[in-house]
Amino acid sequence: MTALVFRGTGDSQGVPRVYCDCAVCREARRGGVNRRLRSSLQMIDPDAGTTWIDCGPDWGRQMEAASLRDVDRMLITHAHFDHIGGLPEWYDACRWTGKTGVAYTPAEVIEEIAGRFPWLGSRIEFRTFDEPISIGQWTVKSWRVNHGKNGYAYAFAFRHEQTGFRWVYCSDAIGLTEEQQEPMIGVDLLILGASFFHEPYPIETRSVYDVTEAIELVRKLKPVRTVLTHMSHDIDMGRSGELPEGMAFAYAGMRIEC
Ligand SMILES: [Zn+2]
Ligand SMILES: [Zn+2]
Repeated sequence: MTALVFRGTGDSQGVPRVYCDCAVCREARRGGVNRRLRSSLQMIDPDAGTTWIDCGPDWGRQMEAASLRDVDRMLITHAHFDHIGGLPEWYDACRWTGKTGVAYTPAEVIEEIAGRFPWLGSRIEFRTFDEPISIGQWTVKSWRVNHGKNGYAYAFAFRHEQTGFRWVYCSDAIGLTEEQQEPMIGVDLLILGASFFHEPYPIETRSVYDVTEAIELVRKLKPVRTVLTHMSHDIDMGRSGELPEGMAFAYAGMRIEC
């Protein structure tokens, strides 16, 4: 059976935020339940080993938390620092162990990463992920999603060949078109980014759904289960009772069997 383990559930700055002294950041600073590293997900598959989604700047610490020395492949959703900042560290690990890492991401993201970290290509093999790929018995497709003022990201949809189980990872999105929502309809598990509980800023300045919008979207798409990730200090785990049935906030170490 495939297991998914959340290794990071924070937004681009993580929680606590360096400059902030709000109640959630203070609780997080004391090592509490709101402590969040940058978003990433570990997928453990009996046939395909370890797949790691997104490699932010907390990747090294997340690997330690997972007691892992290596991953079999990375999937990268987009080239924002909170999703790729750990790639140079992975590169160094590959260089020292004499391995070549394998990362899948759409061609335009490969180009952006190469612009940012031009040396990675000598130790990390970037494979284009514009067409579906297979990971063990999972068929995985990527598609481009609106990321508001931050441009675009990609979401990933997984479908198991034997069981038909479907799950989606979409950490950075807002204002999805009907077409972009389509792969999420009725999935068994939707992992969706929600940065704020309720974000008061004008829509043109925003880049990720808030919890109230996520609830609306979930009502429409009707996934069996939804787990929210990519959360800022505006989200207090103490408010999980306000989520409808079938929805939950993710936390580091949260494990889901597919
Ligand atoms: Zn992000
Ligand atoms: Zn982003």
